[in-house]
Amino acid sequence: MNHDNYVPEDIDNGERAVSCPICGTNIPNNPKEMLFEIESIDTDFRIHTLLDDLLDDWLIQCPVCFYVSHDFFIPPKNLQKVSVFVESPHYLSSFTDNNPTTLELFQAYLKILFVDHAPAYLIGDCYMRISWLYDDDENETLARENREHAITYFERALIEIEMNAKDISMIYYLIAELHRRNKKFDNARNNLYNLDTSIKMMRNLFDFQWKLIQEKNSGVVQLPREENSHEALS
Ligand SMILES: [Zn+2]
Repeated sequence: MNHDNYVPEDIDNGERAVSCPICGTNIPNNPKEMLFEIESIDTDFRIHTLLDDLLDDWLIQCPVCFYVSHDFFIPPKNLQKVSVFVESPHYLSSFTDNNPTTLELFQAYLKILFVDHAPAYLIGDCYMRISWLYDDDENETLARENREHAITYFERALIEIEMNAKDISMIYYLIAELHRRNKKFDNARNNLYNLDTSIKMMRNLFDFQWKLIQEKNSGVVQLPREENSHEALS
């Protein structure tokens, strides 16, 4: 991780200041460990809390140049290209007022990921989060379409980079889950077979997902309580 932008003096309320990789403005970054009480976790690892929707805080935007990212400590790989894009009228025209919606922020973030040639798993993850927003709006068509895009990029991630057995299993699990939500139960089952069930967590996820697929359940389902200890969720 690149800590060159870190600004130790923190004037505000204990949040970590970081300079925007595009324009240099100092802004508070997302806190590393967000404190919240988990109410439930869905089978696609969406976390629900008692208070706010975490998605609303997942992305932050520079108030000066409107660059959007989850973590300002990690600058874009292709800084030059992303800077040119963020300064373009095309990008700026998506922020006509100063109060973008969560969906608008995610759509801007997705464009930045493409311009930056970001890893496929990050793009897949962004599409999945956008599908959650459409789920919330009960827009089944766009939720489904974004789940399809998420599947495409998660599949690409499997051949793009070397991953350990657990990460590979996790990607296959998410692909299975997304197919299930799109009522493609055969595809869901075929992907689920690729989980490494010698890993205890994967065994549990396999068993629970298998049941949902057999029941042809395509809904949003909460993980059983004991699975809620899953780490690295956000
Ligand atoms: Zn900026």
